[in-house]
Amino acid sequence: MTTHFVPDNLPSHLQHYIGGKFVDSLAGETFEVLDPVSNQTYATAAAGQTEDVDLAVAAARDAFVNGPWPKMKPRERSRVLHKIADIIESRDDELALLESFDSGLPIKQAKGQARRAAENFRFFADLVVAQHDTALKVPGSQLNYVNRKPIGVAALITPWNVPFMQESWKLAPAIATGNTVVMKPASYTPLSAALWPEIFEEAGLPEGVFNLVFGSGGVAGDYLVKHPDVPIVSFTGDSSTGATISTAAAPQFKSLSLELGGKSPAIVFADADVEAALDATVFGVFSLNGERCTAGSRVLVQREIYDDFVARFAERAKNIVVGLPSDPATEVGSLVHPNHFDKVMSYIEIGKSEGRLLAGGGRAEGFPTGNYVAPTVFADVAPDARIFQEEIFGPVVAITPFDTDEEALALANNTKYGLAAYVWTNDLKRAHNFAHAIESGMVWLNSNNVRDLRTPFGGVKASGLGREGGYRSIDFYTTQQSVQITLNDAHTPKFGVQSSRETGDA
Ligand code: NDP
Repeated sequence: MTTHFVPDNLPSHLQHYIGGKFVDSLAGETFEVLDPVSNQTYATAAAGQTEDVDLAVAAARDAFVNGPWPKMKPRERSRVLHKIADIIESRDDELALLESFDSGLPIKQAKGQARRAAENFRFFADLVVAQHDTALKVPGSQLNYVNRKPIGVAALITPWNVPFMQESWKLAPAIATGNTVVMKPASYTPLSAALWPEIFEEAGLPEGVFNLVFGSGGVAGDYLVKHPDVPIVSFTGDSSTGATISTAAAPQFKSLSLELGGKSPAIVFADADVEAALDATVFGVFSLNGERCTAGSRVLVQREIYDDFVARFAERAKNIVVGLPSDPATEVGSLVHPNHFDKVMSYIEIGKSEGRLLAGGGRAEGFPTGNYVAPTVFADVAPDARIFQEEIFGPVVAITPFDTDEEALALANNTKYGLAAYVWTNDLKRAHNFAHAIESGMVWLNSNNVRDLRTPFGGVKASGLGREGGYRSIDFYTTQQSVQITLNDAHTPKFGVQSSRETGDA
């Protein structure tokens, strides 16, 4: 094992960014940030309290009401967003190094995510320029049109699994449409979030449009969600947190987008291109350390090919390169935090009595410290098993056999989640019929998780509420006011006029 890599010039303290200034919490509160390889504190971060959130919301509100951003032409905003994308692209190596160091993601995959973050800005920069709305005419009598407007201060609350990319996924459409934002990133991984202020300043984003508050979800996050000057909340994270946020936002009827957990099935029929299915299902559950909301963490395999498929899957899992996140050869790195490591390990222990252990089953060999989990494969897992039903969010897969299409569908739909699904078959009719019957927000047919940014992203059941992606993000971050004008004399019944009553005009 090569030695632990620590990036140069690592900050030892991270501050909030409010109204264009780096500041500490008013009360001076901080929390410690660990790196997942040494599990040692490498920095402190300001821990936002309610008064810090008040300041951030006030700065964002001021920028929305008095600043230039919401009133700028889409092309002008688009130019700033393209500059943001350029800057991210030009710094993707540095960004990936910091992200990998803070989150434990393999460096190669962190780099891919950095590029995706740039693409999110480029995509929404283009989309707001192309955006158009409908005008409807009733010939000779009425014209109606849509006046689309930014809404105000958006609260963006993000998770730790691919932090910078997740943040870009919310930031880009929120600001492209003219809103101002307060972002509260996940406390396990604040490092890459601290890069945004410099990127935005360099790109020329006006002061106050972007505000950043670090701090605990239960304190800063909760207060931000309930803040009366915050009309929009976009949240990605755990389903139970999503339920709490939903309840907190409800009394004020806030616009809410919830992207939550998953336990997505990958269904492999005997007629599939088995080699391609094997590549994709192994990658689908073990990439990003298995800390992926759309991970295909339940693999359902048709009986005819089951034994062979399972044996080959397990062989692949055993050969996966677990290693230092900074090593380009690493395929699975270190899980984000010791608490999460403990959670994943406890599921592995549960799995030992629920399935047949074929690979992994504990700490990765050769890694006595750090949050390294060996890619773990359980076969013959029954549908009522906890490892079949519950999101583990780590490199652990449950494999289950099926005989018929009906059985496969019942198994696929047999969890509270409904985020993604992957279907492998060479039968076109089966592929589409099966896809339509699956209870999930997204389905990939004969494909690994490759996303076109124009498509809707989101889940059903406990996997979320609302859709973002393409113009759906534009819809979420804007309000559509309908304006109508009469082109002729207004035909209004004359209430309170005696003569009209007599003629029956009303
Ligand atoms: P959490 O729900 O624990 O946290 C997500 C964010 O919410 C963090 O910033 C957290 O702050 C904050 N938060 C926690 N409690 C509250 C609260 N009461 N009010 C407001 N904010 C709060 O999720 P994780 O960070 O553990 O992320 C993992 C989860 O995210 C997994 O379940 C995964 O499936 C899901 N996920 C879903 C995706 C999707 O698109 N569907 C994509 C990626 C992940 P703090 O960090 O301080 O606790």
